[in-house]
Amino acid sequence: MGRVALVTGGTRGIGAACSKGLKDAGYSVAATYAGNDDAANAFKKETGIPVFKWDVGDYQACEQGVAAVENEVGPIDVLVNNAGISRDATLHKMTEEQWNQVIRTNLDSVFNVSRQVINGMRERGFGRIISISSINGQQGMMGLSNYCAAKAGMIGFTRAIALEGARKGITANAIAPGYVATELLANVPEKVMDHIVGQIPVGRLGEAEEVARCVVFLAADESAWITGTTLTINGGQLSD
Ligand code: NDP
Repeated sequence: MGRVALVTGGTRGIGAACSKGLKDAGYSVAATYAGNDDAANAFKKETGIPVFKWDVGDYQACEQGVAAVENEVGPIDVLVNNAGISRDATLHKMTEEQWNQVIRTNLDSVFNVSRQVINGMRERGFGRIISISSINGQQGMMGLSNYCAAKAGMIGFTRAIALEGARKGITANAIAPGYVATELLANVPEKVMDHIVGQIPVGRLGEAEEVARCVVFLAADESAWITGTTLTINGGQLSD
């Protein structure tokens, strides 16, 4: 097939599952990460997928990073905006740093990376931009105003660029997973996790591979008529 996919935060958790799923589907994949060299090297050794280290919240780093990926792997046909963090606090306790870190990493990054690939996609008349939002971009959650704002912002961004890309063969879609068993949830207290799982009709957390299946589906050439939408995958926790 010869298509190239870039997965941000593609070395751990949901991103790693997306990288592997796309590779299995025949894509040449590149995965980025921020700083966990051990995890990235282990992922590279296991999968053979090349890894690239830069901060997706930094526009210039994205310019240089995407250029390096395209140089080594090829022009990017499929972008998965997956990298994300959480810095939870209720508004009356949230620091400016917690707000800025989450907006920068989860939302600015989507502009920073998409901006680097959009012109090539327009020129080649094909592109897929898939952004991993969250159930908490569709509903409010206490202690997550920064995260909810960023994740809802990704959905708005996706709707707008879907319109811009529609006549150019470029689709843009968001995926809104519910709670998925990854290290991102490592700091959530056990009592809160029990409460969360109790709210999931299917009765369990999601698996990263279940999100990856959605990414592979939306990335396909055959998914050309699906654009501007948000694919909700949450074990029945929220229907939208
Ligand atoms: P993990 O914490 O398991 O993995 C995060 C990945 O993102 C890592 O590869 C990490 O790199 C990378 N990353 C973090 N910050 C940056 C940065 N500034 N620049 C580049 N890469 C960065 O997260 P998950 O797999 O759980 O989450 C992936 C996405 O899915 C996130 O956007 C998250 O908000 C979203 N999501 C997660 C849910 C969940 O329940 N887990 C539910 C809904 C959405 P490194 O290894 O170097 O730290």
